[in-house]
Parts: sequence; structure tokens; C-alpha cells
Amino acid sequence: MRKPFVIANWKINKNVDEALNFLDAILSQLPDSDRTEVGIAPQAFAIYPMVRSARKTDLQIIGQNAAEKCNGAYTGEISVRDLASMGVNYVMLGHAERRHYFKESNQSINRKILTALREGVKPIVCTNGERKNVGGDNVFSQLENVLAGVPAYQLANITLLFEPTAAIGAGNRANIETAERGCWLLRQEVRRKFGGEVAEHVRILYGGSVNPNNIGLIMAAPNVDGVLIGRASLDAGSFAQMMNYQQTTLSSVI
Ligand code: PEP
Repeated sequence: MRKPFVIANWKINKNVDEALNFLDAILSQLPDSDRTEVGIAPQAFAIYPMVRSARKTDLQIIGQNAAEKCNGAYTGEISVRDLASMGVNYVMLGHAERRHYFKESNQSINRKILTALREGVKPIVCTNGERKNVGGDNVFSQLENVLAGVPAYQLANITLLFEPTAAIGAGNRANIETAERGCWLLRQEVRRKFGGEVAEHVRILYGGSVNPNNIGLIMAAPNVDGVLIGRASLDAGSFAQMMNYQQTTLSSVI
């Protein structure tokens, strides 16, 4: 059984005060952690205060990025070892914006993934497809290259993310069929590379224009195990609604 995972990606929004106020607003509404895992990826400087504020809860505070190296002369980078020392369990690696604006390559993302696994922080591995050509070579070559050298048993510590580039930050461009097809194709690729057992267990998330109105339908797709939410996660009320999508979906059925 794959536990649904709902993640807020704040990008470079919210200062420390705003981040802590957001936590005050949502912590009492966290869903049952047996049913849904919830995470927030804030800016790096807000991670520690947020980890402290959320320490008595199951909320995951997630890194948006980390360096290939754990220490040394790499000005401006973020050490995954030091994320781990703060109690961070997950780090996003290879987000589409990292690839686009910071020219991150598959090879560099691969090294980051291997470093994170070595340091005991679970990578959320981002891949991007196109809306019309979901299964285009891009997704598969990204997956193939970023997972090079990762042994099958480590897939238990990896979450995959499928994002159609055109839907990221677009507001209303989520398409449920695209979400399901992208996640399904990734699962087939994991099956081919690592075997059926691994493919059945790996969590695959969808990202791109998720909001309170479409999350229920997206999460009902059989191969979508969670969502990464950008814009719609910035408002506490909207995020609280989305992290409790199971409750909302249930009450609309009853
Ligand atoms: C994202 O941050 O990857 C993202 C999907 O953003 P949005 O939800 O705004 O499309």
C-alpha cells in the first residue's frame, strides 16, 4: 500500500515569520499520518525554525535542493549532511526550475541523489515530460540517467515526481489523464529497470497546477500517489484543504 504524499513547494516565497505563521495555521489540521504524509519545502533558511516548530508532529520539512558535496569550498550551496543533522528526512532533487534556470544536468542530479542516499536523506526525484508527449524520451532518459548506479533496494527510499513542464506554475493546466499517464509510464519504466516488486511499492507523485478543486480527481488516479503543489500551497487555508483531500472527497461522497 503506497501512502499518499502531499507536498508544498514554496520556492522562494515566505520569510521565517510568514513560514511559522503558516505552521500555526495548519498544524492542528494535519491529517492522520497513517493515511496521508504531508510535507512542506520552504526556503533553506526557514528549514530549522520550521523543523523545531513542527517537532511534535509528523509534518515533514523538506529541502528544495542540496549540493553534490557534503562540505568544503562550495559557496552558496546546501549540505545534505547538515539537512540530515537538522532532522530533515527528504530533499527534492532536479526540479524543473533547477534544470531550467541553474542548468542542472542529469549527471549532476545523479551525483546529488547518490550523496543524499549515502547521508540517509530520501530524494524526491523530479522528472519532466511534455503534455502531448508524456512518455517522450525526455522522461525516460532523465530517469535512466539520474538513477544510474542506484541499487534496486534504494528505490524504497526514493519518491519519484512527474511534472509536465507546461503545467508548472500555469495555474489551471492540470490534466488528470496526463497526470495518470505520466505516473503510469514512470512506473512501467521502474518495473523494466528494477522489477515488479519495486515498481509496485515506489511512490510516484504528480506536479503541475494542482489546487483544491482538482486534487481529489488527480489523487483518484490509480498511479498517482501524491502531489507537489507550488502556487496553491502558499495560502494556509488552501493547503489545509488539500492535505485533507481524503476527508473532503469522502464527505462529498456521503
Ligand atoms: C511546482 O512547484 O513544481 C509546481 C507544480 O508548481 P504549481 O503547483 O504552481 O504548478
